[in-house]
Amino acid sequence: MSGEIFDRIAIVGCGLIGGSIARAAKEKNAAAAISLFDANPAALGRAGDLGLGEIRSTLAEAVRDADAVFLCVPVGAMREAGGGSIAAMKPGAILTDVGSVKGSVAKDLRALAAPGVHIIPGHPIAGTEKSGPDAGFASLFEGRWCILTPESGGDADYKAASDQLAAFWERLGSKVERMDAQRHDLVLAVTSHLPHLIAYNIVATAHDMENVTDGEVVKFSAAGFRDFTRIAASDPTMWRDVFLNNKEAVLEVLGRFDDDLTALRKAIRNGDGQKLFDVFTHARGIRREIIEAGQDTADANFGRDKDEKK
Ligand code: NAP
Repeated sequence: MSGEIFDRIAIVGCGLIGGSIARAAKEKNAAAAISLFDANPAALGRAGDLGLGEIRSTLAEAVRDADAVFLCVPVGAMREAGGGSIAAMKPGAILTDVGSVKGSVAKDLRALAAPGVHIIPGHPIAGTEKSGPDAGFASLFEGRWCILTPESGGDADYKAASDQLAAFWERLGSKVERMDAQRHDLVLAVTSHLPHLIAYNIVATAHDMENVTDGEVVKFSAAGFRDFTRIAASDPTMWRDVFLNNKEAVLEVLGRFDDDLTALRKAIRNGDGQKLFDVFTHARGIRREIIEAGQDTADANFGRDKDEKK
């Protein structure tokens, strides 16, 4: 492993993702120094107790001497955190984020544009249903994609900054892909946002049925339902902000999902076993492709038992 990618980074928001970046940057020698700020004093204090970096009591102090500032706050707080950061950052520094939506965040950050600060939005496709500084771990990004959505047509300095940020994520173990922000939002609407919406909805339906079934949903909860409850345990603030800020793409994908669900409903009503068999066989093939692409393991319980022991 060669020298650090950045002399100093600042992490704004010391929760699951910010805390994981801090741990990974230290462990993998990606930053020589780390400044930390969080608007939540309890989270900031805990990040200090965990030794994740140097605690700064204001946002301006945290970002002032950083070569790269990572905004790791909910999507709805990006504009405020970005505005406070950009005013205090040094020229030539990078302002990036980890938000799960890219179109609205990129627009918010670019609207703040200060001359000399390179704005390069990003999104590590890695996470868990947990929140807060204690939830982070250094290996979170290993083997996971990190999508960067840099501006097209930036000058040579901007391209060099984008390459440096990509090198940082690669040092943390990520595979980096550059993508247009709108495309990112459509892809993630399918692979992440809609599955979370379905999970929240099925748990709500089951909860309503609890009154009918007298506790049996929880008592006999099988793997399928339990997997949905894990996803539905994700942070409500984060997911509220995702749906408010990726409205168009989510509604488009939801329309397609409704059509397919209607077709399945019809197949069940008509006793069309062939249709059901074909859809399920196709889905099983997609699962195989995901395992072959290294995005999950074939272990029972998706290998999660091992992850949870980390
Ligand atoms: P988290 O664990 O809840 O941490 C976020 C921290 O930021 C909290 O301590 C929060 O304080 C603080 N905060 C809120 N507004 C702030 C502000 N204006 N300035 C400074 N700090 C502020 O959240 P997370 O799961 O790490 O998610 C952070 C970002 O990563 C989100 O944009 C999310 O979309 C993205 N992301 C999440 C995942 C995932 O699986 N969780 C995966 C990839 C990307 P309070 O608790 O008081 O609000």
